[in-house]
Amino acid sequence: MSLDGATAPVYEAIRRKASFAKVIRNLGRLVDARDEAGSALEVRGVMVLMRSNLDELPALLRLLHAHRVTELLVQRLSSDLGQPDLPARYIPIRQYVDAAELAPADLAHAATVFAEARALAGELGISLHLPRLAQPAAPPAAAPRCRWPWDQLYVTAAGELLPCCMVATADRATFGNVFDDPDGLVERWHGDAAQSFRQRLADDEPPQVCRSCALYHGTF
Ligand code: SF4
Repeated sequence: MSLDGATAPVYEAIRRKASFAKVIRNLGRLVDARDEAGSALEVRGVMVLMRSNLDELPALLRLLHAHRVTELLVQRLSSDLGQPDLPARYIPIRQYVDAAELAPADLAHAATVFAEARALAGELGISLHLPRLAQPAAPPAAAPRCRWPWDQLYVTAAGELLPCCMVATADRATFGNVFDDPDGLVERWHGDAAQSFRQRLADDEPPQVCRSCALYHGTF
């Protein structure tokens, strides 16, 4: 359940045209239906952390606890979209990310909020996963820093096999279209574009799209 805020003004400023009241009502219905059915379905909260919602993290834990949700995964924005050949239609998104992402000056306050959130999560019995606030001093010695293009499929509705969901659209990076021939999925998965992308990701010169990715830098 994606919840990027604990109050309507903050949530609805991020998720434009959404209704916080409706989302919370539906969360309640989902959890009620689960419990009435005696189901073991696990419901997890996911929050994209930004400057505008950082201070709502403790309140979000309380809100989830009140709705019998026992896990919260907090993520940073996935990319600063810093690649030089960024398609023009991403420029407004990059500007939004630049304004929304935690700045270096926010990190000390974020650390304080994280400490409060960890303590509260312990009290409430919520499993809380927080992102790193700073890049690791040294990257892992063993490349690659991201396993996604080896381990998971991401295919768009138009049939484009992308390296991962962070890429979002095929004009940033693609392994090709799986609808191009009957064995398209297998062909694209093992094709030159995929192998070349993986090879560069495993080396010290990753593809441009990875260079500004939070997963690559270990801060996702
Ligand atoms: S490092 Fe590259 S392949 Fe991995 S998630 Fe980021 S953009 Fe995708």
